[in-house]
Amino acid sequence: MTPFDRLMHYQRQTEALGQVAGRLGWDQETVMPRGAAEQRGEETAAMESVLHARRSDPRIGEWLEAIDPAGLSEVGRAQIRLIRRSYERAVKVPADLAAEIARVTSLAQGIWAEARAAEDVAGFLPTLGRVVDLRRQEAAALAGSEGDLYDALLDDYEPGATGAALDQMFGELRPRLVALREAIMGAGHQPAALNHEFPEEGQLRLSRDLARSFGYDFNFGRIDKAVHPFSSGSGRDVRITTRTNPRDPFNCFYSTIHEVGHACYEQNIDPDYGLTPLGRGVSMGVHESQSRIYENQLGRSEAFCGFLYRRMAEEFGDFGVSDARAFYGAVNRVHAGYIRTEADEVHYNLHVLLRFDLEREMIAGRLAVGDLEEAWNSRFAADFGVAVDRPSNGCLQDVHWSVGLFGYFPTYTLGNVYAGCLYQALRAAVPDLDAGLGRGETGAATAWLAENLQRHGGLCEPRETIRRATGMEPGVEPLLAYLEAKFSALYGI
Ligand code: ZN
Repeated sequence: MTPFDRLMHYQRQTEALGQVAGRLGWDQETVMPRGAAEQRGEETAAMESVLHARRSDPRIGEWLEAIDPAGLSEVGRAQIRLIRRSYERAVKVPADLAAEIARVTSLAQGIWAEARAAEDVAGFLPTLGRVVDLRRQEAAALAGSEGDLYDALLDDYEPGATGAALDQMFGELRPRLVALREAIMGAGHQPAALNHEFPEEGQLRLSRDLARSFGYDFNFGRIDKAVHPFSSGSGRDVRITTRTNPRDPFNCFYSTIHEVGHACYEQNIDPDYGLTPLGRGVSMGVHESQSRIYENQLGRSEAFCGFLYRRMAEEFGDFGVSDARAFYGAVNRVHAGYIRTEADEVHYNLHVLLRFDLEREMIAGRLAVGDLEEAWNSRFAADFGVAVDRPSNGCLQDVHWSVGLFGYFPTYTLGNVYAGCLYQALRAAVPDLDAGLGRGETGAATAWLAENLQRHGGLCEPRETIRRATGMEPGVEPLLAYLEAKFSALYGI
């Protein structure tokens, strides 16, 4: 075997173990008995230390040394680039720190869930303080003496991105989002919201149909219920979760479509890349571009809403919405709600920008964890014009920080920006998109995305992935143009 073959053989086993670790996480969120939390913490830490040892094994350095990238194909060179990056990150983080982060964040997730249910911020803050402290230690190990702590964490989710560049991009978005929001709120009329009960069974049945119509392959996946919807796994085992609320079926349907976007990206990657570094979505931002374009540009389009209106009438009978136009308004109703995952397309990015700024401050050491609730609430009042009424509607709503995800939130807005670019290119490539969407057929759109983006997995860097798919330099203009056109028409402004 050549050094390249040896390296890839070794890597394949590491990737397989990584999938196993991911499935432990899926189990924890879906079916694990409540009393197993502590033991699961030990199990997760044990898996993490095995993975960390493998990812930092000195033989990787020797194999990389012995390989001449010039003799490899584009695919081979991309594999080497990703393995080298993972190796260099792994050797910088001490093994005991990596294990401690895994142990503490596994426990912290349960503590967060209990604190959220009990509206008890004080019960969660000591744990959050420990998580922030550990991630800052990790960032310092990764960044070295010169580097920026936040950028070191961000790089794990969005290679090549920096806090400063994102700050500038978000600075271009914000004034036009705020202006659009104010114009909508000043329009003087608001589409009616749903006012009906929708049994859980019907919601789950329809959400499975929606998953199928967006191309999710149940041979290689399944849908379960969880507190927080997510997608988990790669290649031939990609699972998603959803949740139901009897008064708000859109939460279930659009969470499902969103997670299907993530899952289809994973399912549609070239099978030749399975259990290799190329066999996963290239970054969280690009991942989110897939979930968001499925959910919003396609799923919340007027054409697709016409189809969903008819399907809901079949499933639930008369649910009090007079026609497809009113239904489209209800789906896209703009309102200043507390919860990010329930936010409309206009407010969504304002939720993300709030978290981006606060977590950057926490990681930089400029915002103490003890001051988080007050900082959150005052920023929320300023951006959304309403006061947070309880912690589960405020700083306790998201799981992310409890599991140590700092540098992750901005990838949501980056994903929206990328989705805007992709949608512009998609519309140019598939002019009669709406005809299919009106029949609930997403195949023309999802095939275009699979062919131009999804199948490549980790072959190119994130921005290059978008550039190749769209033929344009990624920027905020297409997203803003899409939002302004859609909501101006909806609200007559
Ligand atoms: Zn997502």
